[in-house]
Amino acid sequence: MKPNQVNETLLEIDLNALEHNYRFLRSLIHKNTLFLGVVKAFAYGSDAVAIAKKLEDLGVNYFAVAYTKEGVNLRKGGITTPILVLHPQSVHFETLIKNNLTPSIYSNFVLDAFINKTQEKKLQAYPIHLKLNTGLNRLGFDEPELENIAHKINQSKSIRVEGAFSHLAASEDLSEKAFTLQQIEKFTQMCALLEQKLTASFLKHLCNTSGIINYPEAHFDMVRSGIGLHGYGNTPEIDKQLIPTATLKTIISQIHTISKGESVSYNRKFFAPKTMRTATLPLGHADGLNRIYGLEKTNVLIHNKLAPIIGNVCMDMVMVDITDIPCEEGDEVIVFGKGKSAESFANNAGTISYELITSVSQRVKRKIIS
Ligand SMILES: *Cc1c(COP(=O)(O)O)cnc(C)c1O
Repeated sequence: MKPNQVNETLLEIDLNALEHNYRFLRSLIHKNTLFLGVVKAFAYGSDAVAIAKKLEDLGVNYFAVAYTKEGVNLRKGGITTPILVLHPQSVHFETLIKNNLTPSIYSNFVLDAFINKTQEKKLQAYPIHLKLNTGLNRLGFDEPELENIAHKINQSKSIRVEGAFSHLAASEDLSEKAFTLQQIEKFTQMCALLEQKLTASFLKHLCNTSGIINYPEAHFDMVRSGIGLHGYGNTPEIDKQLIPTATLKTIISQIHTISKGESVSYNRKFFAPKTMRTATLPLGHADGLNRIYGLEKTNVLIHNKLAPIIGNVCMDMVMVDITDIPCEEGDEVIVFGKGKSAESFANNAGTISYELITSVSQRVKRKIIS
């Protein structure tokens, strides 16, 4: 075995690549603009604590996670930077407060529940961020609700609006530029109204990775990046400037020579058109290589050559065509990452890098490279 060669399925997480991506994204924003690192979903399927620790060292100003327990995990890992919980539920407010997490308040229901909880605990000016709906129609207050919520907030001494934010629906899609500009305009108006009613200013933030890249005029006080930190910028030009942080590697478990007409894998969806060599890899849909990647839609890299995935992906295994690739059992296989874009792998199967990289299951060992 060559040095550094893997001997099992591994997700390598390169913190130097993360640093490169962070510095690139930072170079796109004004030096006074704050940077929030989105580390939800195990930091996009990698390792939330390792990624957040590195970003904290690099000077990230804020973190965001989707759910309260993801924030608790970061606190347990020693992260002290403020953490915004994008989608908390009221049942977790006790835990959220105990862990010094900042809730995104997106509805009257959660606002009332949070005011009650902070009053019950006799807290003063606990920071919250208000989520505003500017057109994604997912979470957030609509403009007609603002006057009423500002009134409620002004009545309550237990909370304070530290930030207000919204999320763009199509920041990566320049054919939707007119819609995005409308969202930016709406966000500006809603913030102005809130500032007037609250008679206080707060942090405003709107852009995700593609927003940072495509809408420099809309960076406001802080930007939020997730996918960019992992090396994907939703356009080939930006991808060239970034380095994939996570690389999914595996090995060849077994090689078979099969005759013309034989089938491979469950339900016999692949028949050999000629005598072929196939390799079986210890990686399946339970590891995050979903069935959509099978049936020759995607391929893996073996000795720098592409080996198509043939037949159906099994739970713990997948078979690839290595007829034209000189290789042996035990050789290294790259599924996606450095040198093999997760974006094109995902696109070939009709999905996006976000879904592919966040799907690598917890069964796959993570290896941090620093
Ligand atoms: C996930 C998420 C982000 C990060 O988006 P990227 O495209 O990965 O940079 C930013 N803001 C919100 C509200 C999110 O849910």
